[in-house]
Amino acid sequence: MKTRNTEEELKALLRENIRNIVPYSTARDDCQVRMDIYLDANENPFDSGVNRYPSPHQTELKKMLSVLKKVPSENIFLGNGSDEPIDLLFRLFCPPGRSSMLQISPTYGMYSVAAAINDVRVISSPLGEDFTLDADALLSKVEADTKIIFLCSPNNPSGNLLDRGQILKILDSFGGIVVVDEAYIDFAQAESFISELPRYPRLVILQTLSKAWGMAGLRIGLAIADKFITDVMSRVKYPYNISVINQLKAQEVLSEPLQAADRIGVIVSERERLAKALSGLPQVLKVYPSDANFLLVRFRDKDEAFDVLMSKGIIVRDRSSACHCEGCLRITVGTPEENDSVLEVLGVQDIPAGGDSEDRVETESGTSAGHPLHRMASVFRKTGETAISVRVDLDGFRKPRISTGLNFFNHMLEQIGCHCGIALDVICFGDTATDDHHTVEDTAIALGDCLYSALGSKAGIGRYGFSLPMDEAEASVLLDLGGRIDFLWDVKFAGDRVGDVSTQMFSHFFKSLSEHLKCNLHIKAAGENDHHIIEGVFKAFARALKQAVKLESDGLSVPSSKGVL
Ligand code: PMP
Repeated sequence: MKTRNTEEELKALLRENIRNIVPYSTARDDCQVRMDIYLDANENPFDSGVNRYPSPHQTELKKMLSVLKKVPSENIFLGNGSDEPIDLLFRLFCPPGRSSMLQISPTYGMYSVAAAINDVRVISSPLGEDFTLDADALLSKVEADTKIIFLCSPNNPSGNLLDRGQILKILDSFGGIVVVDEAYIDFAQAESFISELPRYPRLVILQTLSKAWGMAGLRIGLAIADKFITDVMSRVKYPYNISVINQLKAQEVLSEPLQAADRIGVIVSERERLAKALSGLPQVLKVYPSDANFLLVRFRDKDEAFDVLMSKGIIVRDRSSACHCEGCLRITVGTPEENDSVLEVLGVQDIPAGGDSEDRVETESGTSAGHPLHRMASVFRKTGETAISVRVDLDGFRKPRISTGLNFFNHMLEQIGCHCGIALDVICFGDTATDDHHTVEDTAIALGDCLYSALGSKAGIGRYGFSLPMDEAEASVLLDLGGRIDFLWDVKFAGDRVGDVSTQMFSHFFKSLSEHLKCNLHIKAAGENDHHIIEGVFKAFARALKQAVKLESDGLSVPSSKGVL
């Protein structure tokens, strides 16, 4: 937890001229209420869609990113690409001509360029031959004037994640700012360092909308850090650093996050296909393991490979001059068709078939009807109060992806995914600043619609389900997916809230869900601890649903003497 000491400690790290800087303020900063007539900023009054200055605080965009990243808006700084926060970190913490920064080598080139522009000396610490990080070796290079350490994980151009334990060791030992650039984290099977922020106020995480989110053209980079640091960055930045159009476009793309998730899935599976096929070529000496959206490949003759690709109109990056990268080209993972072209040009004989393709992705977006043998559906539901994406795959399982902006509600929805043994994605951008009502209710509606759609004809399903204990609490959930709606709720809570969700909203959630899943849902639970009671209900619901959606028969007959459900 942040203490006054943390703030003093961070303040002491700032350049003297920055400590008490007075930012440019706009009249709209000073005035919080909404006005009808804006005559404060010398704008042109005639509406062109862009005649007004953009929000200097990017409030709406940050709200969405806060839901997705599960971090409060106040911990997010948005810049013009990652370039802006990188540059600002030097301007905040490194007195020109009197300080140094320490980076791993090889790594992303912009850190040293921004250091040079800010007259900051660059110290490089080579990674191991296999691009592993040795914290002690790096720390031994710290000098008295070293203000910032730049780490990049997954690293560019090597592609690998750095060892988490080694990064933590650096965070424990170094007294200055430690930057972990996670530009490629969404392509890796690893947790972001965001969860470490409460423990390490000197940690700054960089992320970007340029890679996994596919918005490189918008130039939006994130620094996620202690509020003290994001506040100072905001005071130093140009006031209107992200245009109206870029903010709106980013909000539009972010509001349909499952499309980005699908594309990440395609890129990751293509990365593995490309790596496997390339490593079989005689002219390829090594394909380095990658946790990013590119591969570092060592060729016997990298010029020959570069030229042959170039002659067919394919451009890749020559990284052979970087530390430990002799003979290496960096190849970005493209679409399946683009990757086929790379393999063909390089002479791969039997090009392995691509797995997932965009075709599959596109048929899944929108609402798609369930199929008896692969029962999945997606729902996108947008109102003035919420924008929700839900996807279920009743016959697949992986870790649920849940973001609703309500931590306790996230936790409960995760119970449904885990204990039902289905793949469940729920991402909701809701008006949680007002209260939890619309987020909880609308999520139930979208989830009910999505489950109903995935069930399709209901042929072969078990149809019914049941109950379970949860420590001292006991929860019973009776479910019939027969198509008639009946809701019974016999659950009492001692308090008004559990975490950030009001207890009233739980019956509302299940009622809306039963209406949209078109089911009988009878829920009873009792116990001493509200958290246990409701967690028991969600788990029991998940188990009941698991039993009810399970295919029991040949998948052809409907479990009803009527022959339809
Ligand atoms: N960090 C790393 C490690 C990168 O490789 C890149 C781009 N190549 C960036 C940041 C830049 O991201 P942005 O487009 O947000 O400036």
